[in-house]
Amino acid sequence: MPELPEVETIKNELLPHVKGRTITDVEIRRDSTVRDTTPEEFKSCLIGRRIENLERHGKYLVFDLDNGGHFAMHMKLSGSLWAKASEDEVPDYVKAVFTLDDGTKIFLRDPRAFARMWLVDNVCEITDKLGPEPLTKEFTSEILAERLKGKNAPIKSVLIDQVVIAGIGNMYADEILYDAGIDPRRAARGLSKEEVGRIHKAIKRILPQAIASKGASVQDYFRPSGEEGMEQFNFKVAHQKKATCSCGGPIVRIVVRGRGTYYCPNCQK
Ligand SMILES: [Zn+2]
Repeated sequence: MPELPEVETIKNELLPHVKGRTITDVEIRRDSTVRDTTPEEFKSCLIGRRIENLERHGKYLVFDLDNGGHFAMHMKLSGSLWAKASEDEVPDYVKAVFTLDDGTKIFLRDPRAFARMWLVDNVCEITDKLGPEPLTKEFTSEILAERLKGKNAPIKSVLIDQVVIAGIGNMYADEILYDAGIDPRRAARGLSKEEVGRIHKAIKRILPQAIASKGASVQDYFRPSGEEGMEQFNFKVAHQKKATCSCGGPIVRIVVRGRGTYYCPNCQK
């Protein structure tokens, strides 16, 4: 699933294609992609609107329109947005197509078909449901400690809870906890101040590194150009089946509250 670094990359690379452009056509090929309204209503609200800006909130993409409205997308398991002149350049599994006034087409490609889009009157409808953005200056070690306080759940589960922190998902939580040397099963509330500090430092190191690598291309993530991200080559534990850690011990896969989790029992205590 695209997480903060992947959605941030989509936002950064799609923005030059869409900013200031007017939507001239919308084609919905799978009705269930549109939520909370009919595909017809969704189309009629977008056609003729100019896209003023594109924002990321957690794992959500939000398009700001010239009438003050917005539409949001969530890529879920396998969604990606391709900016191309024609469909010949998009492999398959196209669920929606947005045509812009310069002829550019934005294709929503989604093999698993769980991606969603909907109209939004106020961005608060999205941001109110999310915890703090981890890459802001305001997200300090003290704030992280505050967010973890009293939580009995495993730290892995707490890190991927979007209400606690926005944008971290399964694979980056594994990388962050490896970087911090923390066992993913530890109760969040049992971590010392020093350990929380290590997790905070890991968040601030791993996520920007992944953005610099344009995300990780596992499970169908592509950049708007159709290229792959490179961060998967930096992964130490995430998706490292039967791999060996740099300490010489095996990377182990366990299940933490229903989520596949990779870690090194030797390096993570
Ligand atoms: Zn190790």
